[in-house]
Amino acid sequence: MDFNLTKEQSMIRKMVRDFAEEVIKPRTIEIDKEAKFPVDIFEQMGELGLLGIPFPEEYGGSGGDTLSYAIAVEEIGRVCGSTGLSYAAAVSLGASPIYYFGTEEQKQEYLKPLAEGKALGSFGLTEPNAGSDAGGTKTTAVIDGDDFIINGEKCFITNASYAKTLIVTAVTGKNEKGKNIISAIIVPTDTEGVKITSNYDKMGVRGSDTAEIVLDNVRVPRANLLGDPQKGFSQFLYTLDGGRISIAALGLGIAQASLEKALQYAKERKQFGKSISNFQAIQFKLADIAMEVELSRNMVYKAAWLKDNNQPFTKESAYAKLFATETAFRAANQAIQIHGGYGYMREYEVERYLRDAKLLEIGEGTSEVQRLVIARQLGC
Ligand SMILES: Cc1cc2nc3c(=O)[nH]c(=O)nc-3n(C[C@H](O)[C@H](O)[C@H](O)COP(=O)(O)OP(=O)(O)OC[C@H]3O[C@@H](n4cnc5c(N)ncnc54)[C@H](O)[C@@H]3O)c2cc1C
Repeated sequence: MDFNLTKEQSMIRKMVRDFAEEVIKPRTIEIDKEAKFPVDIFEQMGELGLLGIPFPEEYGGSGGDTLSYAIAVEEIGRVCGSTGLSYAAAVSLGASPIYYFGTEEQKQEYLKPLAEGKALGSFGLTEPNAGSDAGGTKTTAVIDGDDFIINGEKCFITNASYAKTLIVTAVTGKNEKGKNIISAIIVPTDTEGVKITSNYDKMGVRGSDTAEIVLDNVRVPRANLLGDPQKGFSQFLYTLDGGRISIAALGLGIAQASLEKALQYAKERKQFGKSISNFQAIQFKLADIAMEVELSRNMVYKAAWLKDNNQPFTKESAYAKLFATETAFRAANQAIQIHGGYGYMREYEVERYLRDAKLLEIGEGTSEVQRLVIARQLGC
């Protein structure tokens, strides 16, 4: 067993940390306050190859592994939850399904610009009446000659307003048991009938774009079907298993930032004639946060390692997502407590960590859904 990062993984951590500290960090308060998606930051991330870390060079990627990508999400999340969420969604949801299940032509046409960071992709699974129960998808795709005609509505879709391509799930028929067959289809956002609006006023991750999509008689070639039409449901479960590693990494980044801010403040703040870090009540909070950050990191990296080594990782990615995101929320909450009244103020940033962390317990499968996944893996 080797807990050391490889030379490449350490270099990626340093490169992303430097970029996050120098370029993203000075903008994070403004990104949150103005709820503005930082297009220029994503352009720079594209130029650095961050959007293509886990994809091979032949498809415009950087040829890295899942662990390197998780480290990149962690480092971006450490400074900005909004940028971290949009980054994780672009790679894990917008681009990865094309890499996992796409044909060679689809990879060249659609994956390459995403991996090169020249365009963003989105993944539209959630609908107004199909959230945790994604099998309840109502969007339909009906064959008409060489095309699909898609009708339906998607909600809460990350990056959609800035995306060049959407991957949408839709009912394409019924199996022999009479159950809906759900397939994934690539839809360029400039196709007639695609309407994307982003009017949500969110609690956190305010600089990450979140949009509603209406698909009104949207016609795309049948060649845009992604993967095996009979296996659409298991394909997106696999996609979500991978995506959970990145949301867990984002939680880890926010938890790490909470620890650093709380520790620094506890050493500086004096009450009753000494630094509050001398009080055991404060020390115990810091010790608990530090331990949970370390456990989260072990879980996230192990899930990524399993995926990289082609071993089953469904249970471990659910463990990591559940534990690291709940750790992020607890750590941010305690960081506010350690800051006292100042922690309630925007400029100290820890209140933003709490607002951003809350989303991680909901998106890509709620904490309850992670527990269901784990229980199923245990054989319940
Ligand atoms: C900012 C943001 C970004 C998002 N980005 C995307 C995206 O890019 N693409 C996308 O497709 N979706 C996205 N989502 C949607 C997100 O994945 C869903 O909100 C989430 O899966 C929960 O679905 P729901 O909101 O319909 O809640 P519901 O499914 O209605 O759940 C409500 C509550 O009931 C609980 N619950 C439901 N079923 C069970 C059960 N069987 N057992 C126990 N408890 C249960 C849930 O855990 C939750 O607490 C995003 C959401 C947000 C807020």
